[in-house]
Amino acid sequence: MHLTQKVVLITGASSGIGAAAARAFAAAGAHLVLAARDRARLNELARGLPGRVLAVPTDITDPQQTAALVQRAVGEFGRLDVLVNNAGVGLAAPVATLTAGDLRAALEVNLLGPLALTQTALPFLRRRRGQVIFVSSVVGLRALPYLGGYAATKAALDRLSESLRVELADTGVAVTLLRPGTTSTGFSTRRLGQGNERRKLNSQAATPEQVAAALVRATHQRTRVAYVKYGDWLNTAVSLLAPRLADRLLGWAFAWKQG
Ligand code: NAP
Repeated sequence: MHLTQKVVLITGASSGIGAAAARAFAAAGAHLVLAARDRARLNELARGLPGRVLAVPTDITDPQQTAALVQRAVGEFGRLDVLVNNAGVGLAAPVATLTAGDLRAALEVNLLGPLALTQTALPFLRRRRGQVIFVSSVVGLRALPYLGGYAATKAALDRLSESLRVELADTGVAVTLLRPGTTSTGFSTRRLGQGNERRKLNSQAATPEQVAAALVRATHQRTRVAYVKYGDWLNTAVSLLAPRLADRLLGWAFAWKQG
């Protein structure tokens, strides 16, 4: 898909990957609709971008706000070509003490929000033979310790996208799942869960710009499932092919991390 003058709606655009994606899609010539709760950050980003940009403060856990978001986008541009479901929240806690409240809150943002928005946007995307992109995570396929709740929200998103892709096969609407690994944004400082369980393995984080470039590439190529780094794909493939080995390696790595 060529992006010049295409209308791209990005959620979670006020920071991190979403803000970098906004810059990358704008540089590729797209018109943008930017959504997140933080009005000031959205407006500041929008002011610095080339092309037509509409900033719509939106809480994606509120179905009325997601419906209004799509209406504003279509009202302004007359169409919608690409929906990037990027907004998300982290959650770190051992499964033994994971609270239902935290898991529910994460599901609202990571699963139910994208579902409602996609359902509302689909009639418009069908008209344009457009594309829906879900920003998932490598942990949607293989969870890490203390990220079981977060991984469950992303695994659910993965399964939704698989069904949707086949359901839309004869409509011309492409469904893309992006699985970033650790990315250097403020994500882990904002996540839900108990503070002292916020451990992480030291990995070579991607930059938000690398993830944004992967998003633009996946839009051009209408990719089915995309990774940001080859190493993310390799680690995931090995841990699925050799799950017991992955259990052991992760166990050792976390024991070593705890000293
Ligand atoms: P981030 O900087 O914390 O960005 C999260 C974005 O989501 C923010 O713009 C936030 O904006 C928005 N958001 C959160 N709750 C929202 C709500 N209820 N309604 C609307 N917007 C909401 O983190 P990021 O790293 O860029 O994360 C972006 C996506 O990448 C997420 O889906 C995350 O799961 C995924 N991911 C991240 C990593 C990583 O290591 N960073 C790795 C794999 C996947 P407001 O607060 O203004 O609403």
